[in-house]
Amino acid sequence: MDITEIAEALGQWFRGNLQLNKPLADLTTFRIGGPAGLLAMPKGIEDLKLITQEIASSGMDFFVLGHGSNVLISDLGFPGIVLVLGEGFKRIKRQGKDKVYVEAGCELNRLIAWTIERDLAGLELLAGIPGSIGGSVRMNAEAQGCSIGDTVREVSVLRLEGKEVSDRQMPAQNMHFGYRKTDIEDNEIIYRVKLKLDNSGKDDLEARRKEVMRWRKKNQPLAKPSAGSIFRNPAGTSAGELIDRCGLKGKRIGGAVVSEKHANFIVNTGGATARDVYELIDSIKEEVRSREGIELEEEIKLIGDMGGGSS
Ligand SMILES: Cc1cc2nc3c(=O)[nH]c(=O)nc-3n(C[C@H](O)[C@H](O)[C@H](O)COP(=O)(O)OP(=O)(O)OC[C@H]3O[C@@H](n4cnc5c(N)ncnc54)[C@H](O)[C@@H]3O)c2cc1C
Repeated sequence: MDITEIAEALGQWFRGNLQLNKPLADLTTFRIGGPAGLLAMPKGIEDLKLITQEIASSGMDFFVLGHGSNVLISDLGFPGIVLVLGEGFKRIKRQGKDKVYVEAGCELNRLIAWTIERDLAGLELLAGIPGSIGGSVRMNAEAQGCSIGDTVREVSVLRLEGKEVSDRQMPAQNMHFGYRKTDIEDNEIIYRVKLKLDNSGKDDLEARRKEVMRWRKKNQPLAKPSAGSIFRNPAGTSAGELIDRCGLKGKRIGGAVVSEKHANFIVNTGGATARDVYELIDSIKEEVRSREGIELEEEIKLIGDMGGGSS
């Protein structure tokens, strides 16, 4: 089956949204990326189960796009199926005093506001991270020494293996949450997460959230499209500092520029292509390698064919 036939077969029962050849740039914070072969936004868990079964039986390539705030999508796009857990996956539900169930498509910032209103502490320092819950758990989003993994108690995933799809509840104690990574694999789709927060009545949550937002505004180039930090911090140092020391702030390829405000950010100054960003990444790595003897590693996920290996 090709992708058009898959879309036709799905169209018979799929309640969500299906779009062939859908440009992805507007679904990313970089505002960069070519089309998805098929973009599918399931309306709820039944839709998601059916489409993952279709993906498993057809063997079609797929990936899950959250809020697209940590990805660089190729100018050629992604020829397979791109799953977006949008409107059908935004619910938040409290259980007991301090447990919260949240669906993967909910914005992290919306969840933070919701928890602060209920005097539940634990997420407020993550304010301003523009991800979805699914993407934030997958990447173990972290800020100010606090990571979302610290609050996770269980992750619900659909796992595709061969032609089978299984529904799994993964207890956090069996998982590893590391620096910008977890052991969630590419064949696992997070659809819901259970968190445990602190209900001991800390009353400065909103003040802390505001302080973090002020810090972000001062230190990050939020006025221009970006994907946040491009590189992981090497052990014992910061990627931004290394890039700055190499004099690379302001370096430009096409519409992609190393931010003057934060050297680990590349901003899209208008019309940047994925290729521009990719070449800029390559040249930063080369410069840092030759001047500092350190190999930088991308934090962002590169999706699709970038046309030539990043060194
Ligand atoms: C201005 C700015 C500031 C940022 N600041 C921070 C920061 O302080 N700390 C930090 O950690 N990050 C930061 N980021 C990066 C980014 O926001 C986080 O990594 C975020 O958690 C990614 O979530 P997302 O939904 O956008 O994921 P995406 O970028 O859409 O996807 C990231 C990865 O997660 C996978 N994924 C997404 N959803 C699911 C799902 N439901 N199931 C399985 N896999 C999934 C994708 O396939 C991809 O591999 C920043 C980004 C920007 C643009």
